[in-house]
Amino acid sequence: MNVGFIGLGMMGEGMVSNLLKAGHTVKGYDISAAALERHAKAGGIATKSIQEVVKDVDVVMTMLPTGAHVESVLFGKDNAAALMKPGTIVIDSSTILPKTTESIASRLKEMGLAMLDAPVGRTSDHAWSGTLIFMVGGDAAHLEKARPLLEAMGEVVYHCGSNGAGIRSKIINNYMSIVLNVLTAEALTLGDKANLDRETLIKILMGTPAGRSHLATSYPAKVFKGDISPVFMLDLAAKDLGLAIQVGATDGVPLATGAAALQVYTTAQTHGRGREDWTAMLVHMHELAGLKK
Ligand code: NAD
Repeated sequence: MNVGFIGLGMMGEGMVSNLLKAGHTVKGYDISAAALERHAKAGGIATKSIQEVVKDVDVVMTMLPTGAHVESVLFGKDNAAALMKPGTIVIDSSTILPKTTESIASRLKEMGLAMLDAPVGRTSDHAWSGTLIFMVGGDAAHLEKARPLLEAMGEVVYHCGSNGAGIRSKIINNYMSIVLNVLTAEALTLGDKANLDRETLIKILMGTPAGRSHLATSYPAKVFKGDISPVFMLDLAAKDLGLAIQVGATDGVPLATGAAALQVYTTAQTHGRGREDWTAMLVHMHELAGLKK
């Protein structure tokens, strides 16, 4: 396939290397001269302008820092979208706000162009090794056309739904792993401050939802089945969280994530959920978010 790739940074450069390996023709554009030079050395076609990179290609990919960058490249002074041939598929892999994605998709559609939001999970190492996770929003037919490209760059391609569903999935994934990063650091610091053996502590954590995640353990066993009868009461979970917060205060370890979580446990208790299973937290959160039971 003929691809125009805009944004040859940490992610883009690795992604393009796999497109080239798979035999695709890749015209590249970046505002960085050094990035363009590396692109040409890797076997790509370096272009000097947005106009040049989008000309006569089947697919235009963007891998840019923010939504403002993507909008300005597509609709700004260069007006790239207006220069694309009808039917061109624009694939945006940048991490941006869903409402920006949705607005870009509808503007492109009005111009006779297709769009897939296809943000990626994992890091630049995976971009180089071709093992990214693609979360795609857009029409199934457009995804099928683009699939060989995505499969050259990624290990798994998920079709999440219509435009915006890919980027929403990505943001939810990042929300969870980014907050878990803080929680993990808090928990290990509690152990380190008390001079616990790190390896033993990790073995313990890896045997429970702490290390294995609720998604792989407690939720499928209980709340996903619609069963919130208690195997571990929410009241007891709140009590244990209070103990951890007291230990943190005594030992001088700030537990900001735990303190925020305790507020949510308290509201679940005041909503009468204390004697339900701790996974009833999902039902409580649905209620707070105004979702129907
Ligand atoms: P980066 O800053 O390394 O790359 C962005 C590239 O875009 C740069 O080379 C920059 O020169 C270029 N650029 C900026 N404005 C431009 C313009 N107007 N025209 C052409 N090129 C332009 O960033 P990155 O790490 O490659 O991340 C890109 C996107 O991918 C971001 O939205 C990021 O959040 C997301 N992401 C990053 C990672 C990661 O591990 N780095 C993982 C998943 C998703």
